[in-house]
Amino acid sequence: MVDPAECTIKVMCRFRPLNKSEVERGDKYIPKFTGEDQVSISGKPFMFDRVFGSNTTQEQMYKASAQKIVKDVLDGYNGTIFAFGQTSSGKTHTMEGSLHDPDGMGIIPRIVQDIFNYIYSMDENLEFHIKVWITKNNLSVHEDKNRVPYVKGCTERFVCSPDEVMDTIDEGKSNRHVAVTNMNEHSSRSHSIFQINVKQENTATEQKLSGKLYLVDLAGSEKVGKTGAEGAVLEEAKNINKSLSALGNVISALAEGSTYVPYRDSKMTRILQDSLGGNCRTTMVICASPSAYNEAETKSTLMFGQRAK
Ligand code: ADP
Ligand code: MG
Repeated sequence: MVDPAECTIKVMCRFRPLNKSEVERGDKYIPKFTGEDQVSISGKPFMFDRVFGSNTTQEQMYKASAQKIVKDVLDGYNGTIFAFGQTSSGKTHTMEGSLHDPDGMGIIPRIVQDIFNYIYSMDENLEFHIKVWITKNNLSVHEDKNRVPYVKGCTERFVCSPDEVMDTIDEGKSNRHVAVTNMNEHSSRSHSIFQINVKQENTATEQKLSGKLYLVDLAGSEKVGKTGAEGAVLEEAKNINKSLSALGNVISALAEGSTYVPYRDSKMTRILQDSLGGNCRTTMVICASPSAYNEAETKSTLMFGQRAK
C-alpha cells in the first residue's frame, strides 16, 4: 500500500554548468547552494525537495529523482516526470541525455533499462506487455466515445528490449527534423511527451496489473516579446506560454489539495490527467542556467517550481 505522505508532488531543481560561451564572456556563476534542498539567487532563497549543483552526474540525478517511480509503475501506479526551464537550461540533457552512452544517459533511458532489468529478473509466470509512444510539436488531442482523451497521429509500439525503445525515440527525433526544416519560420520550442505503459499478467493466477509513466520534456519557458517575434513564431510562443501556465495551475491546485483541478484548460493537462495527482507520482525537475546573464529567467523558473510546493 501507498503511504499517503508519499503522494505529494516532488520538485527537484538542477543547475547546469556554465557553458563555453558564458565562460568566455566572463559571466558570473550566481546560484549559492545552502543545503541539500535550498538555493539562493542574489540573496533570494528557494526551497525544493532537492537541489542539484552543476557537477551532478546523470546517475546521481536519476537515483535521486526518478528511480523510485520505476517500482511504482511496476506496482501498477501511474506517474509523470516533467522537465521545466528556459531553452538551453538542460531539460533534454536531464530527460534524454545521450541515449546510447552509459554515463551520459538521462532519466528516460535509465528508466527503460530498469524496467526491462526487472522484467528479465521475473519468473516465467509473468507476462509483460510494454508499449511506448513519443510525440513532439503540437498535440492533436481527441476524445473517444467515453470522453477519454488520446493523442492522434503518434504511433504506439510494443517493445521487447531497451534498444527497441531507443530506436523509437531516435525515429521520433528524425521525424521532427524533417517537419522542422520544411517550415519557413521554424522554432525549436515544442513539448515532447514520451509514454511507457507496462501491463503484467500472471498466467497462473490471471492477476493483472497496469501502470504507465509520462516523461515530458517541456517547451522552453522563456518569455517572448522583447525579441520581436512575429507571425507564426509569436503565435506558437503564446500557445506554449498558455499551456505552461495551465500546467502550473494544475500542479499548484494539486499541491494545495484543491477540490477543483483545471485539467481541461490545456491539451497537455487533458492527456496527462490520469497520471497527475490522485494516486499518481508526479515529479517536476526544474532546470536552470547558473549564469548572471539569465538571472531574470532563472528566478521566474524557480518561482514556477515553488508553486508546486
Ligand atoms: P534544453 O533542452 O533545456 O534546451 P539542453 O538539455 O539541450 O537544454 O542543454 C543545452 C546544452 O547544455 C547541451 O549541449 C547540453 O549537453 C548541455 N548541458 C545541459 N545540462 C548539462 C549538465 N548538467 N552538464 C553538462 N552539460 C549540460
Ligand atoms: Mg531541449
